[in-house]
Amino acid sequence: MLDMRTVLAITIAYSLFSGVGIIIFGLKRKSELGIVRIGLGIVLTGIGFFVLSMRYYLPQFVTVVVSNFLIILGISQVRTGLSKFRKFNYKWYFQDIVLLSILLVSFIYFTYVNPSIESRIIIVSLINIIYFIEIIFLFTKKRTTNIIKESFLINMFFLISILILIVRIIITIYQDSLESFMLAGFVHSLSVMIYQVMPLVITIGTFWISNSLMERKLEDISRIDSLTGVYNRSAFMLLSEGIFDNEKTRNRFYGLAMCDLDKFKQVNDSYGHIAGDGVLKHVARIISENIRGEDILGRYGGEEFVVLISVSSKETLEKILERIRYNIEKSPYKYNDQEIRVTISIGAVLIKESEKDLQKYIEEADNLLYDAKHSGRNRVKI
Ligand code: GH3
Ligand code: MG
Ligand code: MG
Repeated sequence: MLDMRTVLAITIAYSLFSGVGIIIFGLKRKSELGIVRIGLGIVLTGIGFFVLSMRYYLPQFVTVVVSNFLIILGISQVRTGLSKFRKFNYKWYFQDIVLLSILLVSFIYFTYVNPSIESRIIIVSLINIIYFIEIIFLFTKKRTTNIIKESFLINMFFLISILILIVRIIITIYQDSLESFMLAGFVHSLSVMIYQVMPLVITIGTFWISNSLMERKLEDISRIDSLTGVYNRSAFMLLSEGIFDNEKTRNRFYGLAMCDLDKFKQVNDSYGHIAGDGVLKHVARIISENIRGEDILGRYGGEEFVVLISVSSKETLEKILERIRYNIEKSPYKYNDQEIRVTISIGAVLIKESEKDLQKYIEEADNLLYDAKHSGRNRVKI
């Protein structure tokens, strides 16, 4: 049997200590929005349970109405903090005001007008369930980054908590009437324990998520060329080899194209390096706009780009590359009030055989690029 007094005492100690700890941590990390709010919410639940445990020492209004109000206010703040942490822009004030008003009015009614512990338990459990569902929603709704694995702990915990609260509601409806909350049974103690375990689950869960997101960010930084935003050379090689090794993509046709800006040195000499950098970004954008999401574009070196395109035939490859060449020729880069026109030469190979040697194709494409340069530039050689 779980003893309600012990459960309450531990819950109070846990929430107050971990809540304050989370607040201090959040204040030190301005970038992690919402952490302070989460800590504040947890402290509020701790205070709420403390007030609730003072049943025989404080007036009934404080131990019944104020205590539950504080607990629900706390969980609403935890939810808002988690919502900020997940970078949702929802305004929750309206909903919180409605739910807290319902709680306040019904608790006063079921304490003074028509006393009923059962009704109070059902109402507070239902409101809790609403908040828990919202928290699960915050961690399952698809956002730009996928955190399914990392949110497993939080989602599981709140799902189990919802089940406990549902059982609690059912038991409350069907059991003989309760004499006092302090003598309530196992499931009621379990529902208090939800608040005991919650700080731990939220702390581990949010740390886990921000850690993963940070790792992914670092990974991205190490794979992306900082000037143009396309893959750098090593990432291009790694990803292309991955495609060639992959069962699903191994047997497709590919085009591998080396693209080099024509007379780019002159652009730098006439307009300066900053303008030259702008041209490189501009060209990278045009190329990426003319290929598909599954194709891979990388910056191979200074003013050279390499692209691996999935194609069905030589004709499609030719069409795509010709379109890239044409679009670059036709869309000058606007720098201050000037228009900088550049052209590009492309050497490309069509890859058909199942044995795929990336290095070999790059060399062949490079040779064709050399041909393109020597036969007058601004052209595609396949
Ligand atoms: P070609 O038509 O034969 O390719 O002539 P090119 O002038 O483009 O060739 P070259 O290899 O002689 O010069 C490439 C120039 O690209 C030299 C360098 O200043 C410029 N470059 C390389 N990387 C960058 C960069 O990151 N920013 C800028 N602004 N210029 C760069
Ligand atoms: Mg060049
Ligand atoms: Mg070059």
